[in-house]
Amino acid sequence: MRGRISAADTGLISAVLAGGDALCLECITKKTGVPISDVESVLARIGKTLRIERGRFLCRNCLTRRTVFRFA
Ligand SMILES: [Zn+2]
Repeated sequence: MRGRISAADTGLISAVLAGGDALCLECITKKTGVPISDVESVLARIGKTLRIERGRFLCRNCLTRRTVFRFA
């Protein structure tokens, strides 16, 4: 754990979710390079200003039914 969230990580994750796709943690990590251990903290931070929905749906990228995130 790096313990610190960079603005770059926040920007990268916002960018992949901005397309409106619901993505799981693994795919967010693959697409952004942000370590999976940091993704939830980054999502929590983004969630302070933008509404993020989380739920069990098909991930748009890996087509697996798991917990995914997307902008509401
Ligand atoms: Zn996925």
